Amino acid sequence: MKRAPLFALLLILSSFANAADAPIAVKAARLLDVKSGRYVERPVVVVRSGVVESVGTQVPPGARVIDLGDRTLLPGLIDAHTHILLQGDATQAEYEEQILKEYPAHRVARAIRALKIALEHGFTGMRDVETEGASYDDVALRDAVNEGVIPGPRLKVVGRALSTTGTYPILHFRPDWKFPTGVQLCDGADGCRKAVREQLSYGTDWVKVYANTGGIRTTADGYIESPPNWTKEELAAVVSEAHSRGAKVAAHATSDTGARMAVDAGVDSIEHGTSIRPELAREMARRGIFLSPTLTVTAYVAEPRAREGRPIWAEIPKSQARSFENCRKAGVKIAFGTDAGGFPWTELNQAQEFEHEVRLGMSPLEAIRSATTVAAELLGTSGRAGAVEAGAWADLVAVTGDPLKDVSVLSRIDFVMKNGEVVRAPAPRE
Ligand SMILES: [Zn+2]
Repeated sequence: MKRAPLFALLLILSSFANAADAPIAVKAARLLDVKSGRYVERPVVVVRSGVVESVGTQVPPGARVIDLGDRTLLPGLIDAHTHILLQGDATQAEYEEQILKEYPAHRVARAIRALKIALEHGFTGMRDVETEGASYDDVALRDAVNEGVIPGPRLKVVGRALSTTGTYPILHFRPDWKFPTGVQLCDGADGCRKAVREQLSYGTDWVKVYANTGGIRTTADGYIESPPNWTKEELAAVVSEAHSRGAKVAAHATSDTGARMAVDAGVDSIEHGTSIRPELAREMARRGIFLSPTLTVTAYVAEPRAREGRPIWAEIPKSQARSFENCRKAGVKIAFGTDAGGFPWTELNQAQEFEHEVRLGMSPLEAIRSATTVAAELLGTSGRAGAVEAGAWADLVAVTGDPLKDVSVLSRIDFVMKNGEVVRAPAPRE
């Protein structure tokens, strides 16, 4: 009798040890094979130690079974353009409020909430493309997620991003006072090389530049123009310095000249891409430069910004739609990117981007690939993310309904597994 408690404890411990090694068998009505574009009926996805071991039809002996009933399984989704440290900046006033007034810990606390929301919506991977005045807190949050301290998607981060003097807010405040800026400013080829070295030394994964920002106007043929923020030499220095250290470069480019200069400099992705004529789209396709279109944020901010006294915002959605079509026709690799954080994490599900992509001409399968295989290629995680296959991370989501017929079901994901751990499970039936 006296030994019973110890015996019981050993039993519990051994069952924990077994649970860690025991396979998990995830069953559902179908699995979308995003590579072939076909459904696999009645799949059994076997997961062990956080990795997909096999996709078959048999439950291995001793496996813990998760039966998702009539749901459709897909790989975990990837958003290639987010800002976890930003909570919506439809107007300049909202942006300044966050940059100038919020305490860093408050911003981090809200970023932790953003990470949880994204993961619960099915996003198991994100490229977070700058902190907007929150230093290198994205590096710290990425590491905290990887340590299991907080829940969140796997992150690639850029830290502070780069632009040149006078091109990025906070701008036009009292010149005799020092105000923070939303990015790190650098000037001259040498100065910008140094800035890249400094940013990467703090543990960032990517480098981001603002190819153009202010002075935006429409052109006679309905595209967007604005002066470049950089000289060719400065931009070339940033790209060569980043590439020589194994880091890729994302370029915010919303004007014709901005996108042209970024492409010529050899960046790896164009962000937003609201002014890409057919000839430049063909050049991007030829050079393998990705587009991350962020249609959701455009839909969200266009109207309030036009109302705020920036009428160009009534024109930008039209130019962006044309540019998106040019890129699709030219065969540019389009990676799902939403600019979540540019709209409030608590207000919109970033999965709405699927509906915008389809509205602008993509098939549902193309839209799903943009957030899986294509985004994984951009993030350098092909083979580990973006497809449910042996050797991949066990990042899975499930929905009721047929996402190949209606991508809006992807805004109602109710099962999420990351790294073999269930993050979200459907509510039990009554
Ligand atoms: Zn952004």
